[in-house]
Amino acid sequence: MVARTRQATTSPKSALQSMNEPCELCEAARLTEWFYEDETCWIAECEQCYVPMVVWKQHDPAPPAALRDTMMELLGVVVRESYCFDGFYVDDNMRSIPAHYHAHARPRGGFFGHGLRRTDL
Ligand SMILES: [Zn+2]
Ligand SMILES: [Zn+2]
Repeated sequence: MVARTRQATTSPKSALQSMNEPCELCEAARLTEWFYEDETCWIAECEQCYVPMVVWKQHDPAPPAALRDTMMELLGVVVRESYCFDGFYVDDNMRSIPAHYHAHARPRGGFFGHGLRRTDL
């Protein structure tokens, strides 16, 4: 067999990622439009559920109660402004990313928000 030139496949970034589980919410890839952002949190549409979710800007599963209340309020504002939910509930069961606080606003009686985004704005 002929010796081939090996390509370097290990960059410092990928080495780091294999050591620490990369966190989707920390990376906060702006794949979807952000409805809101401030110094504590951001709100965007969840890619899986098509509902708005609020994400704390700290990698921590348990924000102080006051902060949590503020985030809930902001989430409520986004729901009322940008979605046609006939009532909603806040779901902060963190199924896929349990280490980083985030909460979904889901339509009453449902889980996904397909087609409920306001488009007339
Ligand atoms: Zn979701
Ligand atoms: Zn995180």
